Order: sequence, then structure tokens, then C-alpha cells
Amino acid sequence: MTLLIQDEYPKKLLREDGLRLDGRGLTDLRPIKMEVDVIKNADGSAYIEWGNNKIFASVYGPREVHPHHLAKPDRGILRVFYRMATYSVFERKRPAPGRREKEISLVISECLEPVLFLELYPGTSFEIFIEVIDADGGTRCASTTVAALALADAGIPMRSLVSSCAVGKVDGQLITDLSGIEDKAGDSDMPVAMTWFNDEISLLQFDGKMNQEEMDKSLDMAKDALENVYQMQLEALKKKYIQIQEGI
Ligand code: ADP
Repeated sequence: MTLLIQDEYPKKLLREDGLRLDGRGLTDLRPIKMEVDVIKNADGSAYIEWGNNKIFASVYGPREVHPHHLAKPDRGILRVFYRMATYSVFERKRPAPGRREKEISLVISECLEPVLFLELYPGTSFEIFIEVIDADGGTRCASTTVAALALADAGIPMRSLVSSCAVGKVDGQLITDLSGIEDKAGDSDMPVAMTWFNDEISLLQFDGKMNQEEMDKSLDMAKDALENVYQMQLEALKKKYIQIQEGI
């Protein structure tokens, strides 16, 4: 893994041959691996390796709400705890959850809520604990993707899965799935997530500059990438049940 400090960011993020620094084409995803049922003590769990990102998600619920005053009499609540390990980034990250982790937890929670039937679980909570062990750009997207898998693995009724991926712009070119360097040194970054039961975008954040045409093209690129991520999620879920069936 290449580690760079701010002053050492490359001036150009596209090579002479038009490929990206890690050899990808403009719309290529990084290598992605997903697995469910990886934490035996959780109700449901999943693990994802997305490029250099390594992330676990564990789910509990429905269960009693702690602290009690957070409980809602007419519906369940979803609580997401996104955390980056102190050793997950180049510079030691402070162990206490910072403003960024709280914001990302909220964003992921809002993005997953539409697929849950919270109205059927008054007074209870669903909790998702996301642990980023290694981070290299796009952790909120990989976390959303793996959290949706963990919910499904827990057998919690869902309207559909949720898939997420970022698109953006580097050296004036639109690209899919930004790495850490592309995120920091690029022109713009747009994480997107999709709920498949209604084909709606449930997360869209934006940092940087794009014109209308670029924005439209980026959204089309995001949809293509999300279709691929969705198929990988389905494969990861199917794999568990094939293994059970075959007694592995
Ligand atoms: P995302 O991971 O969703 O792209 P950001 O855009 O905030 O979220 O972060 C981009 C990348 O910057 C992260 O994936 C991680 O590699 C790095 N990063 C985030 N927070 C820190 C931190 N406190 N110290 C060092 N690097 C960080």
C-alpha cells in the first residue's frame, strides 16, 4: 500500500496511458470481496474488503432500547455506530469518535432506514456496529454496503438491500470508486447509495465542483457501479445458504 503525506500528493492522478495510478480504467471498481456471518456472537454480520478498505459490520435487534428514553412508542429505531480504528489510517487517529464518525453514522443510518419496517417494532432498537480496520477512501460507501448485508444476514425483514459507491472527478475526468489519494487530491467526490425496492437514491453527498452535464454522467456511472456492487452482495448472501445446504 502506498502511503503519502499531504505535501506528497501526486500532481497528476491519471497516467500518460490514461489509466489511474493503481492501473484502473476510469469506470473500474477496485477489487471487492464480501462475506456474511463472520461474527458468531452478533445476530448478523458481514465483512468487506474493498480495495485497501477492510470493514466489519455487526447487527443486533430487535432488542430493548438502551438508554430507555430513546425508545419510541410507535416504532423501532435504528442506531448506527461507524468507527475507524486508531490504526486504520496513516496518521494515528484519536480513539474517541470524532465529528466525522458521528456524521457518517448518521448518514448511513438515514440511508438504511427506508429499507427497514421500523413501524412493526415499537419500543425496540436495531443497532449496527461498523468497524473500519483499514481505510483508503470510500469507507462510508463500503460501510453502507456491508451494513446492509449484515442486516440481511441477521434475518431482519427488509424491503431490499442497499448498495453504495462513490463517483467523482480527477484531472478533469469522471471516475468511479475513488481511492484514498483520488479522494484527497482529486477535483470532486460524490458518494451515492441506492435502495433497490424503489430504485431511489438514499444517499448523495458532494464535495468539489462539477457542471450539470458532468453531474448527470456521474449519476449514470454510479448506477452502473451500484448494479455490480448489488450483484456481489447477492452472491455473498447466496454463498452462505449454498454452504449450509451442502453442509460445509
Ligand atoms: P470516506 O472514507 O467515506 O471517503 P472521507 O472522505 O471523510 O470519507 O475520508 C476519505 C479517506 O481519508 C478515508 O477513507 C481515510 O482513508 C482517510 N481519513 C479519514 N479520516 C482520517 C483521519 N482522521 N486521519 C487520517 N486519514 C483519514
